[in-house]
Amino acid sequence: MSALRNLVFKAIRYAGLPFLFREMYQRKQVTIVMFHDPAPEAAEAAFLYLAKKYNIIGLDDYLEARRGSRRLPEKALIITLDDGHAGNRALLPVLEKHKIPVTIFLCAGIVGTNRRYWFKHKDPAISTEALKQVSNREKLQRLAAVGFTPDREFPAPQALDAAQIHELKPYVNFQSHTVFHPCLPKCSEAEAREEIFQSKQLLELKYGLHINALAYPNGDYSDRDARLVEAAGYDCAISVDYGFNTLTTDPFRLKRLSIDDTDNPDAVCVKAAGVWTLLMNLAGKRRTSGNMEVLKQPALAIT
Ligand SMILES: [Zn+2]
Repeated sequence: MSALRNLVFKAIRYAGLPFLFREMYQRKQVTIVMFHDPAPEAAEAAFLYLAKKYNIIGLDDYLEARRGSRRLPEKALIITLDDGHAGNRALLPVLEKHKIPVTIFLCAGIVGTNRRYWFKHKDPAISTEALKQVSNREKLQRLAAVGFTPDREFPAPQALDAAQIHELKPYVNFQSHTVFHPCLPKCSEAEAREEIFQSKQLLELKYGLHINALAYPNGDYSDRDARLVEAAGYDCAISVDYGFNTLTTDPFRLKRLSIDDTDNPDAVCVKAAGVWTLLMNLAGKRRTSGNMEVLKQPALAIT
């Protein structure tokens, strides 16, 4: 991060805004934060900061509380990581040492293979942001034209392999992030259904996991996608809509705050309290998604 950016986060932190948000909004609500592929040192610093200011709970603890079989602590916070990047294996010593529960959302068609995430395929002829705006079918056609197909195997893996998933399993709640990480609202009904239903079946069958949650790729979903997730037998789905959750928040539209993988504790402090996204939204960096306009995270870095 740049020195100026660091200074901005420090100023917001020590001006007391995150403290106010924690006391006013987060005390009685459940905060969910999202990382992707943090280095172990950055993850350890971020997780330890969060553990100091919040009560870290597992996603399953929250689901149990919704069913009435558990009480949640105040300032409950759930840590999630999206995509199932191979780098997540390096977090094992951190998770083992500090016993911090995390949920990792896996792309069922990419983990355990040498296939790649489409959004990591860089070619001068394509723009990742532009590809998020077109139909899934057109996106796949444009990617195929530059040598990428979802089932093409490359020399090295980008995602966790089967052995790594089994190693991490005692410390990680693995859940679904669809099969190939499409923008669900840009999929046909058949495509969305396959991505949502098949990812649950694949992960349960291949890795013996109990899949009850799905994180929408890019946080994007439509009413149809939320209905499909429920029909597939999931208990909840997580977006990147701005805000915090209660026991009565729509379980298929859970809210989540984004934290960058390289953020230092000042930035983690400001973002986990919901202050950063709110300031960004007030500054006009609002984006539209699905069929509704909601306060969203800045689009950058959301995968
Ligand atoms: Zn993702």
